[in-house]
Parts: sequence; structure tokens; C-alpha cells
Amino acid sequence: IHWEKQVRSSAQIHRQNGLSVLVTGAAGFVGTHVSLALKKRGDGVVGLDNFNSYYDPALKRARRDLLNSHNIFIVEGDVNDARMLAKLFEIVAFTHVMHLAAQAGVRYAMENPQSYVHSNIAGLVTLLEACKNADPQPAIVWASSSSVYGLNEKTPFSESDLTDRPASLYAATKKAGEEITHTYNHIYGLSITGLRFFTVYGPWGRPDMAYFSFTRNILQGKPITIYRGKNRVDLARDFTYIDDIVKGCVASLDTAKKSTGSGGKKRRPAQYRIFNLGNTSPVTVPMMVGILEKQLKVKARKKTVEMPGNGDVPFTHANISSARRELGYKPTTDLQTGLKKFVRWRIFPFGYFSLRSTQLEHSGLVEGVG
Ligand code: NAD
Repeated sequence: IHWEKQVRSSAQIHRQNGLSVLVTGAAGFVGTHVSLALKKRGDGVVGLDNFNSYYDPALKRARRDLLNSHNIFIVEGDVNDARMLAKLFEIVAFTHVMHLAAQAGVRYAMENPQSYVHSNIAGLVTLLEACKNADPQPAIVWASSSSVYGLNEKTPFSESDLTDRPASLYAATKKAGEEITHTYNHIYGLSITGLRFFTVYGPWGRPDMAYFSFTRNILQGKPITIYRGKNRVDLARDFTYIDDIVKGCVASLDTAKKSTGSGGKKRRPAQYRIFNLGNTSPVTVPMMVGILEKQLKVKARKKTVEMPGNGDVPFTHANISSARRELGYKPTTDLQTGLKKFVRWRIFPFGYFSLRSTQLEHSGLVEGVG
């Protein structure tokens, strides 16, 4: 295969006891940042991404170019490709897998339900099979989502809360992912850490998310549509800055215990963990828009409508005491500071937008709050 040499070089470790990490979804928003953070401290990093067109593939290619410039190679492939995964594990003895590849977004599921099943369920199982068969078996850290809390009304959300009311197919596939990974953990001794991210935002972010598309529309003088819950209640999100999320991911990799199985057989009970990674201070969507208006120095043309009943939950709020205790996770960026960094990137994105004549669009239906 043509990429073997690049994979070996990308996997080289440049510090003592460094990790060797396969990052799936490496051309994605979180994957790009996590890959860079690991590489910068001397870990071996190999990316995997199928560069799908859920949102602008040019943004994914720009992130790939950024990673390439730091000697991180991204294999172009799908997590459903068992042969390719087996080959990757044959070439590199990965100590960890950071599994971030997924079909994200809640509204896109109305038109494309199968893509959630393909990436978030079938793809997850294919990846777990590859990890199970690998020797050594890597420890797995993967992205679940705050969306598993669904219509749960008890806040803040704790990991032990019930997750029995998913509000979207996306949420259902993440919840299914938690059951599936738990099963692989106890049957095959795979070490598993599931991270429930809360609305992640920042530079190199996802154009389908509200803060991003609102910024684009405000800059273009186009109206924005703000959703409101029942009884005119504003939606609120526990917006979490990307650098805080990255620290949580890296700490999860560092504290992950080794898998205890080998060759598809379990030896001892292995680690299974689930953590909320949020910011613990929800902000309403109109307040978020107010911050953007201030930073862009432009008034938005706002239209507020009742949220169509298709997947968004009214409110998210993370209890992060488990992550704080066990990972040393401590978010430090508030929404003002984080959006300032996002806006700066959006306006001076290292030549990315200026290279393009058209503006970023995505193939989803309407912008979700995330
Ligand atoms: P993203 O869409 O930017 O990144 C996902 C990447 O995975 C994309 O580059 C995509 O091309 C790739 N991918 C999708 N399906 C694939 C497949 N079958 N095979 C190979 N690659 C595939 O999303 P993100 O915001 O970086 O999210 C990363 C992870 O975190 C996802 O699992 C997402 O569900 C989860 N998450 C994100 C947020 C958030 O606010 N960003 C919140 C909760 C959970």
C-alpha cells in the first residue's frame, strides 16, 4: 500500500514513554486540535478520515494541510474498512485510539438517517473489532455526547443520570455507542473511556454549528434564525472551548489503563469510564449572539422562531466533578474569550477563507445549536 511509509513516519514518538495514537476523524474539528496537541508534546500520531462532504470538504483539507505541516499524516479511509484498519494495526503498535470519527449534527438525520448508522454504529463496531484483534490491544478513548442526556430535566447533568430519552437519532447512536463499547469492554477486556462533549466551539470549528453559521451570516449582512423553546424559553448550551476539550482528551489518554485482553480473548477486568467534558456555565443562544455582535461590531438581523421539534434539546449543563477528580479537568475559557479567538480566526484564518471565492456552506438542512 502506498501510505505505509508516511504512516510509519507519522507514528514516530519523540519523547520518553510517549503514546502512539490513532486519531479517527482527524480532519474534523476536534480531531485536528487533539492531533496537534499530541504531536507537539512528542507523541506518535496517525490520523484517519473519510473526508465526507457533510460540511465543506475544503475546510477538512485545510485542516489536513495544517496537520501535514506538523508531520501528521491522515490516511484517507472509512472506519468501516476492516482490512485497512487491520493493516494500520499491523504497521503500528498503537497504544491508544482516539475515536472521533462520527456523523455529527442532529438535524441532518432527518434526510440522512443511514449515515448515522453507518459511521456511529457500524463504524464503531468495525473499529472495536480491529482493536480487539490488534496485538497489543490499544486503549480506546472515544467521543460520546452530551446529547445522550436528551430530554432529561435534572440539571446539571451527571454521568450517573438516566439517559433514556434521546431527542434525536444522533443522540440515540451515541447512547448505543456507550452500550456497545461497554460490551466490548467486559467481553474482550478493552479499555474504554467515553467522553460526553458539551457543544464544543473555537477556531477551525464546524460550519454547521450555530455560532459559526451566525458569524458567517452576520458578516454577510444576512438574517439569522434563533430557535426558542416552548413557552418562549430561550435555548441554552454549556458552550465549551476547544482547548479545554483537548486537555480533557489528552488527560483521558494519559490516564487510560492498558487493555487486559489479547488476540480477541479477555484476561482481567478492564477499565471502563464515562466523563462529562463541559464548561459548567450554560449561556442562552440570544446571549451568545449578543457576544458575537459585540465582537464583530455588527448588529445581527435576528428572527426568533419556535424550535421545530427535530432533535435539539432545550438546555445543557455539565456536572464535571468526575472529570475534575479523575482527569484533573478544569475548563478555563469563558464564552467571551473563546468566541473572541474564534472570531479572530474566522476573519484571519491563516489564508483559508481568503483563498476561497465562495463562503463556507454545509450540506445540512438548517443550522443546529450543537
Ligand atoms: P467533525 O464532523 O468536524 O469531525 C468528524 C470527522 O470524522 C470528520 O472529519 C469526518 O469526515 C470524519 N468521519 C465521519 N464519518 C467517518 C467515517 N465513517 N470514517 C472515517 N471518518 C469519518 O466533528 P467534531 O465536532 O470534530 O466532533 C468529533 C466527535 O465529537 C464526534 O464523534 C462528535 O459526534 C463528537 N461530539 C462533538 C461535539 C461538538 O460540539 N463539536 C459535541 C458532542 C460530541
